[in-house]
Amino acid sequence: MNTDFYYSQNSLGIYEYCPKKFEYIYLKKLSGLKDSLEVQEKIEQGVKFHVLAERYFNGMDDYFYVNNQELEEWMKVLENNYLMDVECRSEYEIRQNNDDLKLLAKYDLILKDKDILKIIDFKTNEKVYKKEFIEKNIQTKVYMFLLGENIFKINPEIDLKNIVMEYFQLNFPEEKIVITYNKEKHEKVKKEIKNLINSIENSIKVGFEKRMGECKNCKFRSTCKK
Ligand code: SF4
Repeated sequence: MNTDFYYSQNSLGIYEYCPKKFEYIYLKKLSGLKDSLEVQEKIEQGVKFHVLAERYFNGMDDYFYVNNQELEEWMKVLENNYLMDVECRSEYEIRQNNDDLKLLAKYDLILKDKDILKIIDFKTNEKVYKKEFIEKNIQTKVYMFLLGENIFKINPEIDLKNIVMEYFQLNFPEEKIVITYNKEKHEKVKKEIKNLINSIENSIKVGFEKRMGECKNCKFRSTCKK
């Protein structure tokens, strides 16, 4: 891989979905078919929410200029569930390049609640997520692992049990998903991420396989047919 490249939950997730798709995006730099207008609007709406949330946690609740019912509702839900005045970092990035792991993650919010560090991730999904699904998600693994690794380096005494990840679903505020962590999970995830990266590095040498199960919804279906 390019020496500037850091693996993220996004790129690892795409490799898990289909190795060929990873190759198209990250090696061949292809973009595939355009998203539908509806999908583009949803992505844009999510981006706008994250900008407003970042401003909120930096003490700016001046979103009077927002003229969009859904965004206003999400901000109300946010205000009702998270105090503005908390010890936190929003839109915070961690990168690491050691131990054969070149990884990065950008967190919506890391909040300190007494001795607990909470990773908060805001979701704008339209169907409710279940814990069993989200706990196995590569995002959960990368986010918790990277925070764990880096906190541990600063303070080797820290108990990894003090890291918690919370998925907050803006359309289902009562369905908060909380995932706990510990040293055993940390070691297991480390192995999984290393294996995934090794598998990618190996695919670069021997070729990327097509995982055909998900082609129907893939942006590269016409590229693959050629
Ligand atoms: S069309 Fe199918 S095989 Fe091709 S990249 Fe997409 S998911 Fe992979």
